[in-house]
Amino acid sequence: MKNCIFCKIINKEIPAEIILENENFIAIKDINPAYKEHYLIITKQHIESVNSINETNEKKFHSIFLFAKQLAKQVNIDTTGYRLLINNGENAGQEVKHFHMHLLGGEKLRNL
Ligand code: 5GP
Ligand code: ZN
Repeated sequence: MKNCIFCKIINKEIPAEIILENENFIAIKDINPAYKEHYLIITKQHIESVNSINETNEKKFHSIFLFAKQLAKQVNIDTTGYRLLINNGENAGQEVKHFHMHLLGGEKLRNL
């Protein structure tokens, strides 16, 4: 998708350090971390949000939790604890209209 920052990262038009990758996702560090450890799990396909998931593209989310778990282990927050978070739409404050799941940890997280 043109003018999508995450598509540009996936297409290597913008450099970014990819921490973990499989056929469906990449994981990168968040540019503006909310916690000591803050990563983004981004679908390789441009899917806007959870609202955009349908019967056809839902297979692009296959193994997302295994991927998240593997990422948490790789960055050493698997045993101390972490939070997975998905913002969908305006009230949730979704800034980037390309599906991503936040992985947060590295310190005590604020209660929801
Ligand atoms: P949202 O509010 O859409 O759930 O989260 C978007 C996240 O993407 C924010 O935490 C923001 O800091 C991060 N972000 C926005 N642009 C970039 C970028 O170019 N590179 C990286 N690594 N993170 C970004
Ligand atoms: Zn995109």
